[in-house]
This record gives sequence, structure tokens and C-alpha cells, in this order.
Amino acid sequence: MEINGRTGFFCLIGSPVGHSGSPAMYNYSFQKTEQDYVYLAFDVDLDKTEEAVSALKALGCKGVNVTMPCKTKVAELADELSDAAELIGACNTVVVKDGKLHGHNTDGIGFVRNLKEHGADVKDKVITVMGAGGAATAIQVQAALEGAKKIYIFNCKDKFYANAENTARKIENKVPGVTVEVYPLEDSQKLYEKIKESDILVNATKSGMKPAEDESLIKDVSVFQPDFVVADAVYNPRETKLIREAKAAGCKIALGGIGMLLWQGEAAFRIFTGESMLRRKCMKDFFEDKEKKDSGQHGI
Ligand code: NAD
Repeated sequence: MEINGRTGFFCLIGSPVGHSGSPAMYNYSFQKTEQDYVYLAFDVDLDKTEEAVSALKALGCKGVNVTMPCKTKVAELADELSDAAELIGACNTVVVKDGKLHGHNTDGIGFVRNLKEHGADVKDKVITVMGAGGAATAIQVQAALEGAKKIYIFNCKDKFYANAENTARKIENKVPGVTVEVYPLEDSQKLYEKIKESDILVNATKSGMKPAEDESLIKDVSVFQPDFVVADAVYNPRETKLIREAKAAGCKIALGGIGMLLWQGEAAFRIFTGESMLRRKCMKDFFEDKEKKDSGQHGI
């Protein structure tokens, strides 16, 4: 398909965006699903977010993906927020309709969907999530919205710790039937005690992410039992030390972060176009092509 006078556009805003795989993935999918759209990436700093969003609205942009540092600001600018985006306080996907901004957050949706695709469900489950930043908050909120019974949040006593306490309060106020407890990650005795009570363990910290790929927050690998589900948000490297050790200990479901990344993109594509990337195997084909080209080194 060729760009013409009627071609609609979507884009990514944030900074930096030069490394993003989103333009390639969306443009590939628009071609495959024969939709007359293009997708661009714009480097936008926090102090330019409001101006950029007004400009995109004025230009008739159909939808925007949002990355750091603009996610929270865009949630403030949105006219309407999904339950997840409201609880998280950040948007990564915005649809522009009749001049109004409808904000969503698909990170947690992608995480839960990826678990489901591998045979694990969060409903009625006890989940330990290590982390209190953007990815962790999205996972905690979506797990609560999708029926998790208990969520234990562990984070270092750093600047993110208050965020964990805030998320716990917001979830308990807004989502009936779920309890959320917050503990310092430094308390390893409590960590192992809560992991033993849990069905699912999630790492959504930067631990294990390049260049700290030799790091895992779980030193006592005896907690990994075969029916225990372990998932990492980290996708660089594809398989973190945590996931390698969980697999080696016999965990049947041990997942790196790439699936979360793909499914959050698929969810955003569906919100943007009403069309699933799965219909023409866009997602699978795109990543297989890409994988062949760069042998797993891509930096989405
Ligand atoms: P963030 O900066 O918002 O939060 C960082 C978190 O990591 C905080 O909880 C912080 O306390 C913790 N942390 C940092 N270094 C640590 C260490 N050495 N030990 C223990 N805790 C540590 O970051 P984020 O956006 O939430 O990203 C976290 C990870 O998740 C990154 O690896 C990122 O690439 C990944 N991520 C993946 C997806 C996906 O779709 N798979 C989406 C978003 C983020």
C-alpha cells in the first residue's frame, strides 16, 4: 500500500524513541491487514508533552503510543481513562476520537495475556511481584482487575517503595476481593515465606536486565517447584538468570518479558484499529522475520 492524501497516522511519543521497534511492527501490521495507516515515532520531552498532544489532535492523529517520560503526563491530559490506566496513573496507548483522548495502559494486559497463552491464569491466584516501577505497577493493577486473590509486592527501600504502598492502597480501594501487602525486598526471610504461599512469582525490577544479566533476586532456588509459575518483565536478555534457574529447577512455566512486550503491542493495535494482529499472523511473522535478520539482538 502507498501513502496517499487519505492515509491516517498513528505515532509513538516519548524520549528516546529512536531505538523503538514499534514503527516497524505497526507499519508491518498495517500492510498485512491492508489498513491505510502509517506509524511514526516523535522524540518528545516531558515539558513538550502537552504541546505535542495538542498538535497531534489538531493534525487528526488517530492514536498515540506513549513511552517514558510522557506516560503520567498523558494520563493527566486524557479526557477518559480505562480502569487500568486510572489505577496505574499512566497511559501507554491513547485513542483520539472526536477530538477527545481515551487513555489506556496495555502493559499489564500484555503480561496477563502472555501468561494465559502459556496456560497460566491470575484469577484466584496468589502472586508475588518484585518491583514498584512502571512495569510492576501495571502488572499488579491488571492482576487485581483480572481477579487475583492476593498480591505481595516486594521492593527495595528506594524511591519506588512509596509507589508500591500507593498502588496497594489504590487497588484495595477500587478492586473488591483482593488483598495487597507491601514488604521491603531487603527482608529475604519474608520474601521466601510469601513466595512459598504464592502460585506466581514475577520480577518486574531492573534486576537481571543488561548489563546486570548475572543478577537474580532469588538466591534460594529451592523455592522453584514444578507447578510454580515464574515470569520476568525483563526482555533484554531474552532469558534472564531468574528464568534460566527456574527452568533448571523444573518450573514448567518460566517466561521472559518478550511475550509481555508483544502482547501489549497486540492489545494496543486492537484498541487502535479494532483488528487483531493475529488475524494475518502479523505478530508472529514480524518477529520471525526480525529474529532471522538480527539473530535475537533486536532492541525493541
Ligand atoms: P522503572 O524505572 O519504572 O522501575 C524500576 C524498578 O526496578 C523499581 O522497582 C526499582 O526499585 C527496581 N530496581 C532497579 N534496580 C534494581 C536492582 N538492582 N535490584 C532490585 N530492584 C531494582 O522501570 P520499569 O519501566 O518498570 O522497567 C523494569 C523492567 O521491566 C525493565 O527491565 C524494563 O525493560 C522491563 N519492562 C518490560 C516491559 C515488557 O513489555 N516486557 C514493559 C515495561 C518494562
